[in-house]
Amino acid sequence: MSSRAQRVGVLGAGQLALMLAQAAQPLGVEVICAGAAGDCAGRVAPLVEVDLEDRVAVQAFADTVDVVTIESENISANVLGGLPLFPNARAIGIAQERLAEKRFFHECGIDTAPFAPIDKLEDFTAAFAITGLPAILKTRRLGYDGKGQVRLTSVADAEAAWSEVGGAPSILEGVVPFTSEVSLLASRNRHGDTVYYPLIQNFHRDGILRTSLVPCNAPEVPGLQARAETYVARLLERLDYIGTLAVEFFLAGHRLIANEMAPRVHNSGHWTIEGAQTSQFSNHLRAILDMPLGSTASRPMAMLNCIGTMPPAHETESFRQLSRHDYGKQPRAGRKVGHLTFPRDAVADIEFWRHRLEESC
Ligand code: AMP
Repeated sequence: MSSRAQRVGVLGAGQLALMLAQAAQPLGVEVICAGAAGDCAGRVAPLVEVDLEDRVAVQAFADTVDVVTIESENISANVLGGLPLFPNARAIGIAQERLAEKRFFHECGIDTAPFAPIDKLEDFTAAFAITGLPAILKTRRLGYDGKGQVRLTSVADAEAAWSEVGGAPSILEGVVPFTSEVSLLASRNRHGDTVYYPLIQNFHRDGILRTSLVPCNAPEVPGLQARAETYVARLLERLDYIGTLAVEFFLAGHRLIANEMAPRVHNSGHWTIEGAQTSQFSNHLRAILDMPLGSTASRPMAMLNCIGTMPPAHETESFRQLSRHDYGKQPRAGRKVGHLTFPRDAVADIEFWRHRLEESC
């Protein structure tokens, strides 16, 4: 039997691939990333330049590793066939298409915002009857961080919204009057063993995640964690899912309403690096390599995203409870360039940095 380290190939080489590579080291696992020259994961892992639209090139990359995984669901379905891929192509396909995703939630008995497909301007009339107003038009594909989304407050907004999304196949969704946004992360291995992290409360601005808190600050809703786990278990089982899955929910009163799922490690779980016994990255690798999963026992944490620019190291270094993650990306408006993690009892530090990052990002 060969004693060489198991090799995981990641399609994509951004910060999620970078943190997967960091988690791989203590497991004795090798992570190799497929991406473009200069992508940030290349700082910590071998980076192979691969055109992720080129089926032959992706297959050639996959031939050099034991298993393949992804760091973004927005990857062409036509390169995924025939790869030793975890999670599987069906799970990725559903998560990358909002209409299929919403229908799948319903098949699993999980509530969503009211929605209707929009393929042409004339579809709005019937759609408004389902969604009511206000509503949000979202492109079915390639939407992330609030991109490809337009809010409508009156029927007269339809034409402008439709032109703003360039007439791309879309869905219209009713706006959910949520009290908070939460996400549940789970990891499932090839034996079907599953672990869940505590529910995370998320705060977005301009469609981009800014802050994640664990445990949730939301008003106590009895049985919420168990209900979320039941929902996510249904998704995992029906998809025969292997790896880490993130599901984002709106909490409206006591109702838990699914918004979307990400078939990968997720920004709202970055606090698990310092705050959980086993991080989401480690459990993703364990799951796809058929290792026993690690404990998700967690302590209260806060995670703040650095959007656009990273605060200089000399400003963060005197905060002894702060863990700084600089992805090494070029500054750019709206771009996730790093994050800061704190134990929740560092209340003054969290508030200081929340304001500081809000001013600068
Ligand atoms: P998404 O790209 O679907 O995750 O949307 C980005 C953010 O927009 C969400 O995290 C919410 O803050 C907001 N949002 C999206 N869809 C809805 C909805 N149906 N009702 C209310 N807010 C929404």
